[in-house]
Amino acid sequence: MPIDDITATLPLVDHHCHGLFPADLDDERLADSLSEAFAPAPPGTSHWDKPVALSVRRRCAPVLDLEPFCAPAAYAERRRAIGAVAVNRRFLAASGIGTYIVDSGNRPEELCSVSEVGAIAGAPAREIVRMESVAERVAESGMSAGGFARAFEAALRGSLGEGVGGLKSILAYRATLRIDYGKPSDAEVETAAGRWLAEIEETGTVRLTDPVLERHLIWTGADIARERGFPIQFHIGIGDPDIELHRVDPSHLTPWIKAVEPWGFPITLLHCYPFHREAGLMAENFPQVYFDVGFALNWMGPSYQRIMDEALELVPFTKQLFSTDAFGLAELYYMGALRFRTALARALGRWVEDDECSVAEAERIAAMIGVENARRIYKV
Ligand SMILES: [Zn+2]
Repeated sequence: MPIDDITATLPLVDHHCHGLFPADLDDERLADSLSEAFAPAPPGTSHWDKPVALSVRRRCAPVLDLEPFCAPAAYAERRRAIGAVAVNRRFLAASGIGTYIVDSGNRPEELCSVSEVGAIAGAPAREIVRMESVAERVAESGMSAGGFARAFEAALRGSLGEGVGGLKSILAYRATLRIDYGKPSDAEVETAAGRWLAEIEETGTVRLTDPVLERHLIWTGADIARERGFPIQFHIGIGDPDIELHRVDPSHLTPWIKAVEPWGFPITLLHCYPFHREAGLMAENFPQVYFDVGFALNWMGPSYQRIMDEALELVPFTKQLFSTDAFGLAELYYMGALRFRTALARALGRWVEDDECSVAEAERIAAMIGVENARRIYKV
């Protein structure tokens, strides 16, 4: 069979994505959505002049019945003519993704809900609870510093409805991964919570960045993950403008990973670029660690193949996962799935050609990475 067929019909499990923009986007908003900074391009330049946007014009334009490489303005206009609801349905159907595991905690006011993603796709959707969002809601609701630790745990447990499949930490964005990973004492948490609540009072901004509180979150999350067999997702490397890149290498997490290893719950490293080789090595070294390169496959545009080739270098086939990391734009679910299918089929096809792998083994590996590993650890 043609090698591309080994991934063509896999009912992929997207283990990390966000909600969709429910309404039409004007030209500016569409262009800004193609930026990780979510900010306007510098004067005299356009966000359409980058790899991911070039790929949208090449790969997504035909899904909207446009010629490849049509002008950005024509693309934006056609998108509005079809309407956001139909655009979202069209791209999600074309993606062939079978299950969506959705982070509900990132700017939820701009995106549709987890169940709406499922309804648009006509596929099951599970929720991942972002621990920092829960902590920030708790802080906003007003309490004493001494009550924070308990209130957070109660709120986190209270947020674990039936559709929830795991927890997420964005420690990397907030305190960075270069921190002490010891479990903080009650007194330390109370002092840090007092500092944070005073800061909220003073600035009116609710944003958790304190390393002691972050440690409290991940240790509380670990207790729950251990009880329920939930994965905890960690944001790694690329994926938000507020990272300090040299402090988000996943190897900084090693002491914590070692500390919770006996508890057995899965730890999934998200995005990972440019540390996908480090992440692959950690997945090889630690039985409970998994990783993906979803974000990079989309955002590297035409260079996606190299990312997949590197991702496959070392990691056990049982430890790599598929994700799109799509946020808002339906195009990113479609293109993320397309890039994954093409890149994996080509990489494995080359192994078959070189007589390093059989077609039957290639099929088995593709099914593990695209579907089965996520089904096993997220229990979907
Ligand atoms: Zn993400």
